[in-house]
This record gives sequence, structure tokens and C-alpha cells, in this order.
Amino acid sequence: MNYKDIWKSVFCVLVESLPKHAMDAWFEPMKAIGVTDGEVLLEVPNQFFCEWIDSHYKKELVTAIRSADDTLTGYRFSIGAVSKEFEESGLVQKQTKVPQVHQNNLNRQYSFENFIEGSNNEFAKNAARSVAEHPGENNFNPLIIYGGVGLGKTHLMHATGNAAIIKNPNLKVVVVTSEKFTLDFVNSLRKNKTIEFAQQYRSADILLIDDIQFFRGKEQTQEQFFHTFNVLHQAGKQIVMTADKYPGEMKGLQTRLLSRFQSGLSVDVQPPNFEVRVAILLEKAEQNGVSLDYDVIEFVARHIKNNIRDLEGAIIRILAKSSLLNKEIDHALVRDVIRERIGGQLKTDITIEEIVKKVSEYSTVSEKDIVGKSRKMEIAEARQVSMFLCREIMGTSLSGIGLFFGGRDHTTVMHAIKSIGKKFESSNNIKKSVTTLRKELTQSL
Ligand code: ADP
Ligand code: MG
Repeated sequence: MNYKDIWKSVFCVLVESLPKHAMDAWFEPMKAIGVTDGEVLLEVPNQFFCEWIDSHYKKELVTAIRSADDTLTGYRFSIGAVSKEFEESGLVQKQTKVPQVHQNNLNRQYSFENFIEGSNNEFAKNAARSVAEHPGENNFNPLIIYGGVGLGKTHLMHATGNAAIIKNPNLKVVVVTSEKFTLDFVNSLRKNKTIEFAQQYRSADILLIDDIQFFRGKEQTQEQFFHTFNVLHQAGKQIVMTADKYPGEMKGLQTRLLSRFQSGLSVDVQPPNFEVRVAILLEKAEQNGVSLDYDVIEFVARHIKNNIRDLEGAIIRILAKSSLLNKEIDHALVRDVIRERIGGQLKTDITIEEIVKKVSEYSTVSEKDIVGKSRKMEIAEARQVSMFLCREIMGTSLSGIGLFFGGRDHTTVMHAIKSIGKKFESSNNIKKSVTTLRKELTQSL
């Protein structure tokens, strides 16, 4: 059997034994890309995946693999999706030979295609694209992408390398973090191999260096980098760097280095606005193989604002939680995750009174009636909707809700909440009112 058939049969076994969420969240996005040393090589999007699978599904996965082919012992991960274009470029060998997924240390997941553009980053993206098209050939050398944490600097830098290689597979792209550069340099000093060290970096056609602020205060490393920089720059090779600040404002870097940086182009990335955040979330959900309700996406986008890594983290956490608890992704689950992530700011701002007021405005049943005793249908329904929303948005206890709504006991409240839950599925009216109210109430938080 070849690895594709093996994976098909593993997948069938897993479908039988694992819940659907687990399959959707974890196994759909996975791809078998070969067999090596008796292990199936599985390609996954990120490190988190590896850890999650290992800690939750290892047993099931190994069993399924062995039952598909008893010469196999288990699995191994490879991070980073090899893009189709890349496969077609011929750099990655398909079939049984193990592809060199980590060639150049470029993270294949980071492309221009999956980098969502907005007014916050379009200049940076265009500059990076142009560099990838014509490395070393225009004035954008060095290109410095700077800005706050989690705003896509590393993504853009890797995308530049990936795109350049797709265009010209012969290019030597060297990508390194400034910490790694420092470490390599220190090691080369220890082992008397500074010449090899220099060679490794100076033979690059494109050198990508991440987070140069870490060169701060490291005089000898800066010295070494200065020479590397000059050699490459003079030879017309492209350099791309990222930094947390505009180079002119960076402290602890030698002035001659900073003045070299000025000769190129510095572009910034800013926090995304609401629409861009929504677009990013949609993209990330798709990448993770799930479709989330627009409501959920919007809710996350309203609460997590300044860091795209956090947006992504929220999506992964939502998936993880749903999978772990074996629960559908509903509003309560999403609220829990967001609350955890932003430190419990959610529920403090809203009160039962406000919920009742909103329901009253929406339904035209008076607030007094909502908390009163009347059993008239429309009144009772407005009351039940209010209870439902109190429970869902604020997580108020059943007896707490009962107390507020005219001293009813907790079984009445439970009945009310269940009944709205059911009607939510069967009645368009209820569905619409709950959805609208929920949205209006949570938007202001
Ligand atoms: P930085 O290097 O600026 O700290 P990263 O490049 O590591 O940030 O980005 C953090 C995460 O957010 C990455 O997973 C990246 O893919 C994602 N990301 C950032 N900006 C965007 C964007 N515009 N579109 C899609 N994903 C993005
Ligand atoms: Mg980074």
C-alpha cells in the first residue's frame, strides 16, 4: 500500500472512533505526505497541532495506523503546509521520498495569499511583494518591516522568501532570527569556525533576519552582522529585516548599522481595524478546517483588537475547547474562551436590568411586565427570552435569575431556558430576536 491508501484507511478507522468535532478540527486539516522509517509522516499546520494530537489522540491514531498496515509503528509530524504552487515548482518531491519541508527554514505556511491586506499593512505587503519579485534589484534594500507584536512582520518576511523561491527555485534564501544569528556566531567563536559562519550567511541571495532589536547591546555580533550586511549589500543581494521599532528609534544598535538601514526602505505594520480582523478570522478558521458562524467571528473581532496572534490563538482555543469538551461551538463556549483570554472583562459591564430593558424595547412588552406575573403569551415569551439571555451572556445562576424575575424557582427558569433553546431551532421569530438581541447586548461590551 502506498501512504495515501494507508492514510485513507487510517482516516476511516478514526471516523468510526472519534467525535465529529475532533475529525473536523484535527484530522481533516492533516495530510499524509509519506512514510519514513516505519512511520507515517503527517503534515500539520502548526506546533500546537502536534501537541494536541499527541496528548489527546495518540492512542487512537497509532492503533489506526497499525491496523492499516502492521509493518508501521506510528507517526511523525512535519509542520507547515506545502503549497500547491510549491509542489508544482518541483522543489518538493512527492510520493514516497520524504519531502524537504524545512528547506531554508522558511515557514511554508506564510504566504502573501493568506496574508490579509488592510490599510494597516498594505504598504508593507506591497513592498515585500516587490522585493520577492525583484530581490536586490530595487531601492528597497534593506527592506525593514517594523511594528508591534503579533502584527504580521514574521509572516510577511517568510512570505517574501517563499514567493521569491517559487519564482526562482535556484535562489539561496537564508532565514534566521537575530537570536539564532547571535547564537551561531558565539558558537563559531567557541569552535574557531568564524569563517564558516561568515560563509554561511554571505552566500545568501536573500537574507531574512527576524527581530533585529535583539542585537541590542551585543557589540561583537553587531560587528559581525555589519560585515555580513555590507558584503551582501555590495553584491546586490537582498536583505529583509524585521524590528519592533522604526530603525531611527532603536536604542542599543550601533549608529553605523542604523545609518546603513536608512539607505533602504522601512515600512510599518499597524493593528488591524475591525473589518480586517474579521477577514483574518475567517481566513484562520478556514485554514484550521472549520467554519464558524459569522456571529462568533464578529464577537471575537470585537474583543480582541491589538494582536493578530491573539486572534488566531482565540480560534485555536475555541476549536480545542469544543473538541476537548466534545461540545458544539456555541455562544457560551466562545464567550468563555474570550473571557479567559482577555481576563474576565466581559460580564462586568452588563446587568440583568439592561438585558430586560433591551428585550422590552425589542418586544414592546414593558419592563414591568417582563419581571411580573402575567402568563399572556407574548409577555411570557419576552420573559423567557430575557432569562435565556441572562443565562447565556452573564452566566447568572438559575436561582439568581428566578429571584430577579418575580421570585420564580430554578426549575421554572430552567424550563424557560430550555423552551427558548428548542424554539430557537423551530421558530424563525425566536431565532431572529435572540440573535439580534444577543448581538446588540454583546456589542457594547
Ligand atoms: P509578528 O512577527 O509581527 O510578531 P507574526 O508574523 O508572527 O507577527 O504574526 C502572528 C500571527 O498572525 C501569525 O500566525 C500570522 O500568520 C498571523 N497574521 C498576522 N498578520 C496577518 C494578516 N494580515 N493576515 C493573516 N494572518 C496574519
Ligand atoms: Mg515575529
